[in-house]
Amino acid sequence: SAKREGQNTWRIFDESLLDEARERFELEADLRKSIEGDNFTAHFQAKINLQTGEIAGVEALMRWNHPDMGSIPPGVFIPLAEQTGLIIPLGERIMTDACHFARHWNDGNRKPIRVSVNLSARQVMLDDFIPMLKGCISRAGCRAEWLELEITESMLMSDPQRIDELMRGLSALGVAVSIDDFGTGYSAISSLTRYPIATLKIDRSFVHTRVNDGKPSAIARTIVAMARELGIKCVAEGIELAAEADMLRKIGCDEGQGFLWHKPMPEEEFFRWVTRHEKSAAAQ
Ligand code: C2E
Ligand code: MG
Ligand code: MG
Ligand code: MG
Repeated sequence: SAKREGQNTWRIFDESLLDEARERFELEADLRKSIEGDNFTAHFQAKINLQTGEIAGVEALMRWNHPDMGSIPPGVFIPLAEQTGLIIPLGERIMTDACHFARHWNDGNRKPIRVSVNLSARQVMLDDFIPMLKGCISRAGCRAEWLELEITESMLMSDPQRIDELMRGLSALGVAVSIDDFGTGYSAISSLTRYPIATLKIDRSFVHTRVNDGKPSAIARTIVAMARELGIKCVAEGIELAAEADMLRKIGCDEGQGFLWHKPMPEEEFFRWVTRHEKSAAAQ
């Protein structure tokens, strides 16, 4: 009967909703436990100076070591962490790791490089973001100019007053700002002259595409030209082919990042990669 069908339909709908809620709830509980258990680590990926081949910077990318499911990528847990407010302790965790890394690297005999950290919208809307950042920097014995924070275009466009305050705070501290995934969000072109933006990162969708066949897209070329005109450094992310790196170098892109050199990896492994990279660069 219609009534029965209705009930069945309701039950199916209900159960799938319940499953989804249960899954989310479980993942959230796991996330909480993992934060207490310290199951998060930063992986690191180099930014290469395309003109000289030198390591110009490093990006810290968070990984969740789930007890049963293994390494979970940030695309899965960052949105959940934002919804639940857990991004606050997580954000502090990655900032701490990045500051220690910057101290470790820059205290040696190396040329100082910047370590970049990704920020999420919810994190910067918090009143004590700048004090948290200062705390991480001073506890690690790191310097503000060794850090760079990556924010997205949509964050720039979201809450002008808040962003003004954030930018002033970061400028006062001496921490650089980079616009991540440039070209994919709401246009932030007017913000480029309004705020002291140090770096534009061309989104990998304009860098590595199957149809590109090693040629950077017209958009990548345009972003590089605009960045140069404005005196802003330009980084291309997601470089997978040597041909892509060559073309980006030719059009004047400053730095590149991508699987062509290496995938993001834990600190120890990253330092081993650096040693190999420097040896092979010296041999050339
Ligand atoms: P993103 O900041 O744009 O980082 C670049 C992403 O592209 C990273 O993914 C990196 O592993 C990947 N990638 C780098 N080179 C290549 C390449 O040559 N080919 C391909 N196919 N991929 C490449 P990941 O680590 O999964 O991070 C995804 C996004 O999650 C990041 O995008 C960033 O927006 C966010 N995220 C990562 N760590 C954090 C964090 O600590 N805090 C916050 N708020 N967000 C984070
Ligand atoms: Mg980034
Ligand atoms: Mg990016
Ligand atoms: Mg990206």
